[in-house]
Amino acid sequence: MELIKDGKRIDGRAPDELRPIKIEAGPLYRADGSCYLEWGGNKIMAAVYGPKEAIPRHIQDSTKAVINARYNMASFSVEDRKRPGPDRRSQEISKITAEALENVILTEMFPRAVIDVNIEVLDADAGTRCAGITAAAVALADAGIPMRDIPVACAAGKVDGVVVLDLLGDEDKKGDADLPVAIAPRSEEILLLQMDGHMTVEEFDEALELALKGCREISKLQKEALLKKYKTFEEE
Ligand code: ADP
Repeated sequence: MELIKDGKRIDGRAPDELRPIKIEAGPLYRADGSCYLEWGGNKIMAAVYGPKEAIPRHIQDSTKAVINARYNMASFSVEDRKRPGPDRRSQEISKITAEALENVILTEMFPRAVIDVNIEVLDADAGTRCAGITAAAVALADAGIPMRDIPVACAAGKVDGVVVLDLLGDEDKKGDADLPVAIAPRSEEILLLQMDGHMTVEEFDEALELALKGCREISKLQKEALLKKYKTFEEE
C-alpha cells in the first residue's frame, strides 16, 4: 500500500498537517475537571479527581501530591475487540503520562494528596498517548489544579521515507517511524519523547520540529476550549 501519493497522504493531508481536532472542556458533571477530545479517528474522555487525601496512607508523599494516571482503552475502541482491563501497554502509557504531567503540576502545594487522572480511549486510531496527555491537561486545568503550563502532546514520524506530522492508524502500522512528543509549550521544555522505528539524525531533527509545530497548534485549541467553557459559565 502506497502511503504517500502525489505529495498527499491516504486521508488527503499534506505531510505537515494535523488531523482535525475538537476539544471540549468540562463535559462531565461529577468529575472535578474533564475533557472530551476528538482527534482524527481518536475519541478520548479524560476525568480528573482531586487533590484529595491519598488513601491508603502508604501511597502518600509528605512533600508533594502523587499523580495517579490511568490510561485505559475500551474493548470496543480497536478493530479486534481488546481484552478489557490493564495490560502492559496501558500500564506503560499510564506511567509515562503521570511522569509528563508531574513535571508541570505544582505538586508541592498538596502534600499527602493524590490527583487521579483517568483517560478513557473510546475510539483509537494511533496517537492515543498524545491525545490522552492533551486531554488530561485540559481536564487538570478545568479542575483548577495549579500548573506551570498546560502540557500538550503530538507525534511526528516517517512514512514512505517522508517525515510527516500526526500519523493515523495505517501510517503507524505500515510506516517507518513514530515519534510522540509532549511539551510544556511556554518554555518548550520536553516532557516526553519516545520513538519506535528508524530515522536518520536529520530526519529525527525534522520530525521533532514538526511535532513541536503540531504541539503549538494544539496548545491554542486547548486554551480556546478552556476559555469557551468559562465564558459560557460566566454568561449563565
Ligand atoms: P498510540 O495510540 O499512542 O500511537 P501505539 O503506537 O501503541 O500507541 O498504538 C497505535 C495504535 O494501535 C493505537 O492507537 C490503536 O489504534 C492500535 N492498538 C493499540 N493497542 C491495540 C490492541 N490491543 N488491539 C488493536 N489495536 C490496538
